[in-house]
Amino acid sequence: MSDKSSIALHGGSPIRKTRLPYSRQSVNDGDIQAVTEVLKSDWLTTGPKINEFEEAFAFFVSEKEAVAVNSGTAALHAAMFALQITDGDEVIVPTMTFAATANAVVFQNGTPVFVDCEPDTLLIDPEKVEDLITKKTKAIISVDYAGQPCNYDALRSIADRHSIPLVSDACHSLGGTYKGQPVGSLADLNVFSFHAVKPITTGEGGMITTNNVHFAQVMRKFRNHCITSDHRERHNAGSWFYEMSNLGYNYRLTDFQCALGISQLSKVPTWTVRRQEIANIYNTAFENIDAITPLAVRKGVSHAYHLYVVKLNTNVLTATRDDIFKALNAENIGVNVHYIPVHLHPFYREHFDTKQGMFPVAETAYEQIISLPIFSGMSDDDVSDVIEAVKKVYNYYRK
Ligand SMILES: *Cc1c(COP(=O)(O)O)cnc(C)c1O
Repeated sequence: MSDKSSIALHGGSPIRKTRLPYSRQSVNDGDIQAVTEVLKSDWLTTGPKINEFEEAFAFFVSEKEAVAVNSGTAALHAAMFALQITDGDEVIVPTMTFAATANAVVFQNGTPVFVDCEPDTLLIDPEKVEDLITKKTKAIISVDYAGQPCNYDALRSIADRHSIPLVSDACHSLGGTYKGQPVGSLADLNVFSFHAVKPITTGEGGMITTNNVHFAQVMRKFRNHCITSDHRERHNAGSWFYEMSNLGYNYRLTDFQCALGISQLSKVPTWTVRRQEIANIYNTAFENIDAITPLAVRKGVSHAYHLYVVKLNTNVLTATRDDIFKALNAENIGVNVHYIPVHLHPFYREHFDTKQGMFPVAETAYEQIISLPIFSGMSDDDVSDVIEAVKKVYNYYRK
């Protein structure tokens, strides 16, 4: 199918004329109409759409409460605030995640205690979590990396044994399930992001789901400066008076974003199926390529496939991951790397004394992983282009 001299990186013609991104939002006319209606209404923010979005979302994930905020990062921060994380508190966080997961702990002056991942799934390793628990541990945050729900049975039993709350960073996994139970109902607090590349989008946005009504009330105040009364309560009391009870933020999501969120949410079931379909096509195509190992998927989970991550076996190649990355990019295939382990970021090295060598599984995986394009709007031709480009680059670099 391709001779050795033909890769685009070295002057051949690329598989695609136009670039295929690694992820992309799907926004249709129905979404646009929903947003337009709100823009023409009386309420641009903190109007009726916020309750509507929260109720629809809570219902979708089978949880009592959902609290909308303006990013996944704000949602993580609100979760840490609800748990009253403060100076000297430790929170266990996987190092294989986006930096915001750990940053939210630092926002509250807590200390993220990093934990390594399982080599085949890159999910938080429950056995290693147990070893890190001290008297100062105030929460565990798990991350459904790539969209695969973690081992919640194991995490729940550790959390319960030590009476520590479990927070799920589910920014990747909306639409997934664990033993039949929806993501969003698996931990004490469950966090979502609606950034443009995430399973659904509001441009920027986030949500926290919980069965704890008190936590929900605290987080609704937190997103509004921790002001004690809302507009309606003041109206009912015939008063303009309000007080700020604590340090809060403006983390409010607008009504037109909520309208987009409601419209997007209804598509999650079909979009998840499409993502799974694409992943299955990739899995089959790569079965006989010794250089590529897709991440393992555990029994009993429905994987939401926010990302399709493979490990490269560079022993059978004359190239590094970085060479493969450049070569696929040159073919106009938008690849990415998720993630640089958080403990390796200069901020954490400087302020939390983390070092290379501390989390060998994540560090080794980081050198091998590459994320291939996956999103609900990808056509079968797009999927074929990715497979063709991977095979072309593989044939060029195989030993
Ligand atoms: C995207 C993401 C976040 C942050 O969400 P934003 O909406 O971008 O603030 C947090 N954790 C993980 C795992 C993410 O992928």
